Amino acid sequence: MEVKKRTPSRELQILEILYLRGNLSEEVRQHYFNLKKGYEGELLFDRILDNQLQNDCLIIKDLLLKMNNTTFQIDTLIIFQEFIKLFEVKNFEGEYTYDNDNFYKYPKYKITNPEHQLDRAETLLRQLLSNHGLHHAIKSSIVFVNPEFTLYNAPATKPFVLPSQINTLVKKLNTNQSKLTNLSKLIADKLISLHQKDSPYSKLPTYSFSQLKKGINCKSCHSISISVQGHYCYCNTCGKREKLADAVIRSTRELILLFPKEKITTSMVHEWCECISSTQRVQRILMKKFKFISNKRWSYFEYSGSGPGK
Ligand SMILES: [Zn+2]
Repeated sequence: MEVKKRTPSRELQILEILYLRGNLSEEVRQHYFNLKKGYEGELLFDRILDNQLQNDCLIIKDLLLKMNNTTFQIDTLIIFQEFIKLFEVKNFEGEYTYDNDNFYKYPKYKITNPEHQLDRAETLLRQLLSNHGLHHAIKSSIVFVNPEFTLYNAPATKPFVLPSQINTLVKKLNTNQSKLTNLSKLIADKLISLHQKDSPYSKLPTYSFSQLKKGINCKSCHSISISVQGHYCYCNTCGKREKLADAVIRSTRELILLFPKEKITTSMVHEWCECISSTQRVQRILMKKFKFISNKRWSYFEYSGSGPGK
């Protein structure tokens, strides 16, 4: 049973918008592609677990935890009756070599050994649980989900799960005679309550409203070439139709995400969406969804504490 969903990090969501609307440097673009690829790998592993894992267990997708000022991430954590299974998910593609505790992109480009990351996460998780009086065995693995991934030389004793071994892994997990206990639920509740929203490791470039490309982006293909006709907008690239009101709300959520400290005004949204002729029309749409605040100094929209998510 899934007890915590996976959502893209704030960093990834912002980079996605900046990629479409800004001018990212080559380094930031690469960082964005890496994050996106990692996230897609995690979703792929989620689908496998959702479809194939059948026993009584609690699945927590994506945890960011803090232990003694050290923040660490867990891609997937599953609580069984007898133990916790921790997964680090990697979406590496191509040929890699393992040599003497080092990891190389074939033939010689050295990368961080994901095993070290996993060991660190396992140690910190154990300490964290123990600090809360919770004791449970922990087993961990690194899952390489990309079908195009090959690893040479890895000793069979290493906690690596190669793409061809994933089905066997899930079958093995399914053979556990697991029954959820109070302890399982306590651990899940505690970990979810300790989940941190923002990562201190986020790397975002500086950006400003004036620098970013304006216009509504297509919900489907993300092109910023949209025409408005009546109550709908149409994508000039893929032809997708969306209700104008929905598209404006979606675009406003982008603004909230990008500029969480700014007061969101009608004219700001009007400029952001670009293709709508009147500010009154934008205002009418926003009033349906957000609370309009107007006083002597300011007129702006207030959005509830639920944040920029959907
Ligand atoms: Zn489109």
